[in-house]
Amino acid sequence: MGISWPDSEESSEVSFPGEWELCEHGLTPFKRVAFEGVNTGRRFLTCPYEDERMCDWMCWVDDEHNEVLKNALDRLWWLLEDEKRKSSDQLAEKDWALGARYMAEKDKMELEKELAELKLKMKQSGGEAGTSGEMKKLGSEVEVKVKIY
Ligand SMILES: [Zn+2]
Repeated sequence: MGISWPDSEESSEVSFPGEWELCEHGLTPFKRVAFEGVNTGRRFLTCPYEDERMCDWMCWVDDEHNEVLKNALDRLWWLLEDEKRKSSDQLAEKDWALGARYMAEKDKMELEKELAELKLKMKQSGGEAGTSGEMKKLGSEVEVKVKIY
């Protein structure tokens, strides 16, 4: 490996004129059509291996696009990326909102549980003035917290 070539589509339909050299393995190269950025639509050749055996050899068949086309392609891909980014932001936001709601529900449930336990303790501690007064205070605090949600 070493070079990074564009994402591409393997092409059996697009014709590749002429004879082309062989890759570093001495193999007949794969015909591809670039499908990324300013190179979209340019034909090129690579090593036929698609795994770690792939050599660095590659050869463009088509010349670089002219500036007008390159700018148009650049803009198109930018728009596509921007769309992708926007929709993944929206997804992340939705996840966050769901997560926050879940946390709030969980907190609420925990507070309610805490409150129920306190109420039970208050009932159990019945007569003892000091403790039950404290418990009542604690209990109302929890009640206030629960009402906030
Ligand atoms: Zn090769």
